[in-house]
Amino acid sequence: MGTATHCPYCALQCAMTVTPAAATGVAGPAADPPAIAGRDFPTNRGGLCRKGWTSATLLGHPGRITNPLLRGADGVHRPIGWDEALDLIAAQVRATREDHGPDAVGVFGGGGLTNEKAYQLGKFARLALGTSRIDYNGRFCMSSAAAAGNRAFGLDRGLPFPVEDLDGAHTVLLLGSNVAETMPPFVQHLAGARAAGGLIVVDPRRTTTADFTADGAGLHLQPAPATDLPLLLGLCHIVIHEGLANTDFIHGRTTGFKAVARSVASWWPERVQAVTGVPVHLLRETARLLAHGARHGGSYILTGRGVEQHVDGTDTATATINLALLLGLPGSANSGYGTLTGQGNGQGGREHGQKADQLPGYRKITDPAARAHVAAVWGVDPADIPGPGLPAVELLAELGRSVHTFFIHGANVAVSAPNAGEVLAGLRRLDFLVVCDFFMTETAQEADLVLPVLQWAEEEGTVTNLEGRVLRRRAAVTPPEGARSELWIMAELARRLDAPSTFSADPETVFTELRAASAGGLADYSGIDYALLDVGAALHWPCPAGSTGTPRLFRDAFAHPGGLAVLVPVSPAASNARDTLFTGPTLALVTGRLLEHYQSGAQTRRVPELAGAVPRAELLIHPLAAASRGIDDGGPVTIANGRGTVRCTARVSTAVRPDTLFLPFHFAREECANLLTSDSVDPVSGMPEFKASSVTVTAGTGIPAGAGAAHLVSL
Ligand code: SF4
Repeated sequence: MGTATHCPYCALQCAMTVTPAAATGVAGPAADPPAIAGRDFPTNRGGLCRKGWTSATLLGHPGRITNPLLRGADGVHRPIGWDEALDLIAAQVRATREDHGPDAVGVFGGGGLTNEKAYQLGKFARLALGTSRIDYNGRFCMSSAAAAGNRAFGLDRGLPFPVEDLDGAHTVLLLGSNVAETMPPFVQHLAGARAAGGLIVVDPRRTTTADFTADGAGLHLQPAPATDLPLLLGLCHIVIHEGLANTDFIHGRTTGFKAVARSVASWWPERVQAVTGVPVHLLRETARLLAHGARHGGSYILTGRGVEQHVDGTDTATATINLALLLGLPGSANSGYGTLTGQGNGQGGREHGQKADQLPGYRKITDPAARAHVAAVWGVDPADIPGPGLPAVELLAELGRSVHTFFIHGANVAVSAPNAGEVLAGLRRLDFLVVCDFFMTETAQEADLVLPVLQWAEEEGTVTNLEGRVLRRRAAVTPPEGARSELWIMAELARRLDAPSTFSADPETVFTELRAASAGGLADYSGIDYALLDVGAALHWPCPAGSTGTPRLFRDAFAHPGGLAVLVPVSPAASNARDTLFTGPTLALVTGRLLEHYQSGAQTRRVPELAGAVPRAELLIHPLAAASRGIDDGGPVTIANGRGTVRCTARVSTAVRPDTLFLPFHFAREECANLLTSDSVDPVSGMPEFKASSVTVTAGTGIPAGAGAAHLVSL
């Protein structure tokens, strides 16, 4: 008998059934992997991608950690008992707090943690450790889109509508998202737009998704990297100047039109063509398809990390929302705007308190009323809850400086953080690093103490998918002896640290507390419980007690006081923070994902089928750029800048522009793309610049003179 649950990887959260291996009846580390079958669900309709089909391989993986591992003076990790490990951590936390104060202890969470773990991690940091220093890797994924959504709508839920709403749309504009590789079952929801000739993909690379626009199915706009904002300002200009705007919607449901109209006045199409490289006729056709769709069958605008992971990511996401508002899409019956969340619980993980500035229910930690509400649920004085901490990049920069003891849950920052060489140096400066994981990731290898934790199919919990739909993850197999739930670890440490309030190891108990803590907040889960989810209810937040959830937001009003959406004027600003692109012999490096791998690759590089399909990083380079550098298809290349050096093989392809390179970020050591990316951040969201790094490329594995040789690090 199989267990109904959901995929461990991305935010589409495809439904699946996990059935233990027939040989033993109970799957686990000693058994064959359980069987995986797709299950009918609105997001995937029974489909799974290659990652989902092979996800059970890791449950019994021989590389699994099954004991706490303490690193000795010789650098070797050796097994110790749980009591010894937890006592050691508690003593270390006390010593750090005594020597340097509570903010010398830091915590880093992850968008893959269940809602229960993300919630309890925020509470653990603030009450048990007493620190304000907590943030998470969602800062690298969703922060710009979230900031823009909050600014425009007063609320951030990735898709404010169910994915099935896309099915009948005439036009879908997809900016910076390669869904055909990152979440293949999602592509079925684009069928209507493709049939109508209205699928428009904006990407500097001709991705698999962009290929879907061929043969009259739509358009592919291929702007130069880091020019998305001018492109969007140009589309807004055309919508206004060709009379395509929905004036009734603008007057009835928004504020700020005049300022936005002024801000885009100088972005006429020919100027945008000169800046972005996108021909005027494609700009005009895009605006007209969107306007036509809005009147006949529906238009949707969706963003992904390609346009958001920049130092101007919040403004670019804002310009996208302005375009959608000018066309009257958000909150409409058959149209909309949304952003495609990436990590499995990237939505829920940004709602319940593991962010530096946040309390559960998407509350602001600086709001006295929010602090009072959460303090009452926790049974503490509001003054006992620390104030805002540091966003992820700033927090990582403090490692070994003002932060001396650090906890990492569900993140592999040595590979996934920008400017990874500097992050690695920070990890090595720490007095004490605790990493909770199920494999010896590149980050765990740096830890003083590694705590083995449970995987997705070994424990109960909830996650919230890209539509804000809360789902039940269920325990389907027996975990290996020795691994423990992170909830249990937090509860045991809280007890040892004499923390106020209560910390439970039971997911349902924690979820019940989360519901109370979120009640009345923007992300209100108080009407959701395990029993409702177990009978298959599809509950989208906000879901106050007695409600059946809110699949579609903004139908009657936006979440700002007064109910109006806000059009916010934005413009490209000369940013000292961004690498100078397209100068001299340098090229623009874009990083991203492949079908076969997920995030830092810590999991998928261990799945033989996936690692066998794509074992190494390949640099995508245009034939002209390759020829001028003597680079052969399949030959070795060295990519470098002042931050680091990467060595891998080249794949020569016209899928990228001659001035642009593409490198996947799933690989480690000398193939780690983030050795090259900048830790400059968006001033509003704290999002790093992942998608536009200036690099040099040379044939072979030598290091180009003066281009970063001193920064080569071994991960
Ligand atoms: Fe899993 Fe995402 Fe693939 Fe679905 S699309 S099977 S959720 S990785």
